[in-house]
Amino acid sequence: MEIAVISGKGGTGKSSVSAAFATLKPEVVLVDCDVDAANLYLLFNPTHEKEEIFISGFKAVINKDVCTNCDLCVDYCRFDAITNVNGEVVINEIVCDGCKLCSRICPLEAISMIPEDKSRMYSGTFRNGKMVYGLLSPGEENSGQLVDMVREEAKKVAQKNNLDTIIIDGPPGIGCAVISTITGVDKVVIVTEPTLSGLHDLKRTIEIVSKFNLTKMVIINKYDLNVDMSKTIENYCISEGVPVIAKLPFDKIVVDAMVSCKSIIEYAPDSEIAALLTDAFAKTVS
Ligand code: SF4
Ligand code: SF4
Repeated sequence: MEIAVISGKGGTGKSSVSAAFATLKPEVVLVDCDVDAANLYLLFNPTHEKEEIFISGFKAVINKDVCTNCDLCVDYCRFDAITNVNGEVVINEIVCDGCKLCSRICPLEAISMIPEDKSRMYSGTFRNGKMVYGLLSPGEENSGQLVDMVREEAKKVAQKNNLDTIIIDGPPGIGCAVISTITGVDKVVIVTEPTLSGLHDLKRTIEIVSKFNLTKMVIINKYDLNVDMSKTIENYCISEGVPVIAKLPFDKIVVDAMVSCKSIIEYAPDSEIAALLTDAFAKTVS
């Protein structure tokens, strides 16, 4: 069973829930698909049995020794990434989309396309099973493709090691990387918080997940910080037919567990919040 834990925005406690789920059952595959800000490897310190380069795109580079500053590529670049500055043609690598058009049309073949190869996928072992995660280098793009690569590896790892539970910590938001994270999973757990923006993001997230016809459920984190808003969120979930499987209270234990590099289940197994997460996990896998 593949379970994706996502949220409409960052900072809702999604990773804490994922970490808890990953330590509630012996031998799981834990997958961190929040490739722009992966953090579960810091908590679980996995081994790196496999490391793969992810080519996130290409950037155009001009060979100044060959270029005659004819401006042809300046005219053709539809991203306005190439400009002529005081008679010298330069490329703004932040703006360059890597479309390769300039390298094709330059009559002197003065432009090379350089692969962006700083992003990585890692696969290894952590204290409760196998772990696969991606790290997208700052400024690099195509997070959805890296998520695809990470999920593909996770499936192979699960098959090879005969593990039947894959817990995926997804990225926040509703972009490509989220869609890559939830496509084809068995269950989606959406973590939200009792704020107006939390409700707004939850609605957008439920809308996206519904389009994929996936089984979804909601956890309201820190529900007691705004009981009225939590009630509003619960009522909204009821109206959408989405079960609320846990209402987690604000608890300092969550931060203390993170600081100790442990999941809540490992750090405080007898706490109220651990019991609520245990119950939520049972409901998720049932
Ligand atoms: S088309 Fe080629 S030669 Fe002309 S400005 Fe661009 S890189 Fe230089
Ligand atoms: S690769 Fe495309 S976006 Fe980048 S400079 Fe060349 S034409 Fe412009």
